[in-house]
Amino acid sequence: MPTITLKSILDNTKTYQYVDNGEPMRGGVKDVYFSPDKSYVVAFFRTKLDFNQKERVISIATIKKDSIFNVDNGQYWKNIYCWPYDVVEKDGLTGIIVPAYDKRFFFKQGYANNDILKGKEKNGKWFASAKFRASNSKTKLDNSELGNWLSYFQVCVNIARGVKRLHSAGLAHSDLSYNNVLIDPTSGSGANIIDIDGLVVPGKYPPEVIGTADFIAPEVLATKHLSKTDPNRKLPNQKTDLHALAVLIYMYLLYRHPLRGGNYFGQIDEIEEENFLMGSKALFIEHPTDNKNRNFKREYGDNLEKFKPWTDLAKTPYTITGPYLKELFDQAFIKGLHNPIERPTADAWEQALIKTNDLKLECSNKQCEQKWFIYNNTKDTKCPFCNTKYNNTIPVLDLFYQFKPNVWKPENQRIVVYNNATLHRWHTNRNIIRNEKLVDNDKVSEGYFAFHNNKWVFVNQKLTSLKDVTEDKEIPIGSMVEITNGKKLLFSKEDGGRVAIITIANN
Ligand SMILES: [Zn+2]
Repeated sequence: MPTITLKSILDNTKTYQYVDNGEPMRGGVKDVYFSPDKSYVVAFFRTKLDFNQKERVISIATIKKDSIFNVDNGQYWKNIYCWPYDVVEKDGLTGIIVPAYDKRFFFKQGYANNDILKGKEKNGKWFASAKFRASNSKTKLDNSELGNWLSYFQVCVNIARGVKRLHSAGLAHSDLSYNNVLIDPTSGSGANIIDIDGLVVPGKYPPEVIGTADFIAPEVLATKHLSKTDPNRKLPNQKTDLHALAVLIYMYLLYRHPLRGGNYFGQIDEIEEENFLMGSKALFIEHPTDNKNRNFKREYGDNLEKFKPWTDLAKTPYTITGPYLKELFDQAFIKGLHNPIERPTADAWEQALIKTNDLKLECSNKQCEQKWFIYNNTKDTKCPFCNTKYNNTIPVLDLFYQFKPNVWKPENQRIVVYNNATLHRWHTNRNIIRNEKLVDNDKVSEGYFAFHNNKWVFVNQKLTSLKDVTEDKEIPIGSMVEITNGKKLLFSKEDGGRVAIITIANN
């Protein structure tokens, strides 16, 4: 097979090679070839780019890339994006050089019942629908590919973080969808955003496409019949990215689409139905006061039973994702669905997902497919997926911060404790925020909770000024304090140090 060598058009000292086997992998607009060592790919746009399109691609591979990767902590973003880093040309066609996908993003097994997906890339669509998870479905993925429910929170954190960084660099993705992310629920590494070459630089390079069907924002779909120069025409931008992001997060946590109910099923033709369901009349399937769209006739027909619990809105309502995410889903799909300015930012999603991680409990049923669920604040705590009653008491720590001397205010943040849960600086000090900028020193645990001789205790490993306020007693490093109902703990006397008030739930 011939190996072709091409010079970079940005730096003529650099060359790239690809193997022309005559059968490139075909993407939406590009033909993709591997380099001989498979460390990168050369992806050629099938049609000749015009001047602006070429400028845009060059800008993404140079200035835009540097603004994200060549700054403090820039290397972190290699975990989040698959970003083009050079440009070549052949026979008038433009090609971009993109890192090859990491091997964790290829199926080891794929489907449970056949080898069709084995070795294929883990495109995000495989993980966004109940059709690929239900045990009696022909297209069920093997259990070894699915991960547990908690791993999808990491998937969502990575995507939210990726969108946050693009937006803070003044960019818009413009076609965020399950087709443009790779997902790995098995290793805990989450997700990677691909196909970055469609990025929109607002005001400079207009979007090329209006997006992917499930993710197009209502205002874009509702105005797509207007000409591009019509001031009422809405094109993809950062606010439409935020719609797509909310849809992705909803789909990765609940494996159904938030707007594709059965509102118009059988009443109108398909195109009109799509415009209504996803466009000007779009309605959240779980709208609290309008239940017109609250059924899945269109998506699942008579197969509703097969895809439970995800098709059972009473059993798996969106509120099982916990209070922080519920609030953002309300903002995205009720307030902000037709009012883009109300949509939650990517940073708000990231922080809500991370805070929700502190509300997790491991299901008491070892066979449970989801393994983890979010504490729901009710007296009788059960796993929403398998209905198993939680088999222990649950210490809940509500966090407070010092507003001024002796005045403590609630943080709207809590920690739900289970055996071996660890405590970190982002819990004990409000000045430490858990995001990609967190330094290693702030990642280590400062102590842990244990259920020991029928008592809950906290073991102090690193807190230099931990105090049991209720008993007026210092808790030195290496010792432990019993966790009891009503107890007040001061984690740290430092600036930003928090107080926790304990409630023992599920008695
Ligand atoms: Zn369970």
